[in-house]
Amino acid sequence: MTSIADNIGVVTRRIQKATLAAGRPQGSARLLAVSKTHGPEDLREAIAAGQLAFGENYLQEALDKQTALGDQPGLEWHFIGPVQSNKTRAIADHFDWVHSVDRLKIARRLSDQRNPDMKPLNLCIQVNISDQASKSGVTLAELPDLARAIAEFPRITLRGLMAIPDPTLPEGELRLNFRQLATALAELRQDSEPAGPLDTLSMGMSDDLELAIAEGATLVRVGTALFGVRTTR
Ligand SMILES: *Cc1c(COP(=O)(O)O)cnc(C)c1O
Repeated sequence: MTSIADNIGVVTRRIQKATLAAGRPQGSARLLAVSKTHGPEDLREAIAAGQLAFGENYLQEALDKQTALGDQPGLEWHFIGPVQSNKTRAIADHFDWVHSVDRLKIARRLSDQRNPDMKPLNLCIQVNISDQASKSGVTLAELPDLARAIAEFPRITLRGLMAIPDPTLPEGELRLNFRQLATALAELRQDSEPAGPLDTLSMGMSDDLELAIAEGATLVRVGTALFGVRTTR
């Protein structure tokens, strides 16, 4: 069995190689360690290896880990699971980023509930590109209006877009999905209205991060390749 530190090295090299192959600047694609179902001792190992950004899908599980890791400075917490409206206050209080917003109501609550003493919450809009069966994510048609509205909220910084394409798609189709998300972000940028840096494409996971980086991913969300196969959920 390889250690988490070894795995971080392997994944970091995969990211560097893909970034180079795409002719992009080193460091332009960041690693988000998706730690759902893994305990705080696994995160400590990752932290010791220099990984500070973590993605979590389940609120209570994440809060427990944040408490257990309260002695660790400089951690950056990303919420990447479905957001229910009764969870927005805790998410606004305890996370730096939310990747999975697909409704105006949720974004409004997150902005209203974000403590004014904290930095604005970084937010990505989740887009549903390939998986017609999934209920998460807005369609490309709905995206511009939602982005314009969210960009108005004072306690939110609209950073970009996130997608979870069906990883079992053939490579060509998967790549097309990533490209569609990149194009959608470029179009939002041209549309001068949505304020916010719009500098983030959250796409690519353990098995397809190279494809995602080739198509412009700036943040790849990697779980299994770092922490091993999940045995629960
Ligand atoms: C679990 C999860 C990941 C990580 O997937 P792996 O295949 O384990 O790398 C990435 N993004 C989201 C939204 C997830 O829920």
